[in-house]
Amino acid sequence: MTADPRRHIPRTDDVLADPQVGAVATGVHPLIVRAAVRRAQEQARQGLIEAEAVVACAVNDLARVESRAVINATGVIVHTNLGRSVLCDAAQAALVRGSGYAAVEYDLSTGRRSRRGRLVTQDLLDRVPNAEDALVVNNGAAALLLSVLALPGDVLLARGEMVEIGDGFRLHELLAGAGRPVTEVGATNRVHLRDYADAAGEGTGCIVKVHPSNFEVVGFTSSVPVETVASLGHPVIADIGSGLLQPHPGLPREPDAHSALAQGAALVTFSTDKLLGGPQGGVIMGRADLVQRARRHPLARSMRADKLAFAALSATLRAEQKPPTLEMLQRSEEGLLERLCQLQKAVGGEVVSVSAVVGGGAAPGVSVPGPALSLAGSLARRLRVGQPAVITRTHARRCLIDLRCVPPGQDGVIAEAVRAALGPSQ
Ligand SMILES: *Cc1c(COP(=O)(O)O)cnc(C)c1O
Repeated sequence: MTADPRRHIPRTDDVLADPQVGAVATGVHPLIVRAAVRRAQEQARQGLIEAEAVVACAVNDLARVESRAVINATGVIVHTNLGRSVLCDAAQAALVRGSGYAAVEYDLSTGRRSRRGRLVTQDLLDRVPNAEDALVVNNGAAALLLSVLALPGDVLLARGEMVEIGDGFRLHELLAGAGRPVTEVGATNRVHLRDYADAAGEGTGCIVKVHPSNFEVVGFTSSVPVETVASLGHPVIADIGSGLLQPHPGLPREPDAHSALAQGAALVTFSTDKLLGGPQGGVIMGRADLVQRARRHPLARSMRADKLAFAALSATLRAEQKPPTLEMLQRSEEGLLERLCQLQKAVGGEVVSVSAVVGGGAAPGVSVPGPALSLAGSLARRLRVGQPAVITRTHARRCLIDLRCVPPGQDGVIAEAVRAALGPSQ
């Protein structure tokens, strides 16, 4: 008979008196501190964590800012649950600089009000010269919504492009929710120009082309490229999803803003925190008259981007340095293997071969081979609740550590975390 583990849950006063808790509780509102301790005890009561982990769990809870920094050892590069992109150094610095008063809607030379986001718009146009104008909003979904709202009339969308982007949200339902019902065109696997031609009419406002960014349809398929759809004469909005600005040789099937506009899209929309590697945001770019209509639409105000997003996006666009997202994608297998063998020397385990994925609604067909360290499955939870939190991938009941998204300087931190998770007996 083992004793009821719940009897070992430390009392609130003991947790509060723990020096580790004291260290992170300094300067934190007392209601927040007590609540964090209660939550940790409750997790132990429910058997979700061990009684000895209550202090560590409370420390984790208290150590977070709004969102707590974690180490991404999953191998999923654009991980939506982990905040998608890692900002480049310049963008991180820009966030700090931009956090005070900033000339967001203010022209320093004239002393007058200026258009919000004027400088970041300029950066976007410098990077995609065939766009006449651009607008930055809160995220990719808002960019698509506002583009459609800027074009009065019905929306045509291929059935095979009616995408659920994540967390149960579907783009066509988003448009319908804003009062712009979508006319479905073609079949799930195939759509032809004549389908669009049959569906188009007097009332057609735009044709939306959504990049199937998080799935692939294989087999008997056909879709109509932007340039062919554009030949019908209705404005085409191309939602390219992941925000490549120009073609990328390593991602030949990923659409990019420049090419979509060159093929005749009136507007192109994308997220700024996927392959672009910036902060959360969405961009509308293309024809000047349509971008201006989007800018002046009454709902635009409810989707406007934050000054910190402008600062980080601008720095991302201006940097010569490749964003970490693309750098991680291109990390060599040999380099990763070398790092992983060092880690294996330090903590044991078995080196296995896995494939990393881009993730986050980008490049669904692309998998990037690489090595991972396979450890006992029980370590996953301990690493997750540790300090720092290390998020791993669980596969076939093994805990897999993939170093592709781990900055090389943090390999030692991972080794430390694994040792701590293995416990003193190991
Ligand atoms: C990711 C994605 C969206 C949604 O963008 P958010 O920035 O998550 O709002 C819309 N369309 C496509 C094709 C996408 O890949």
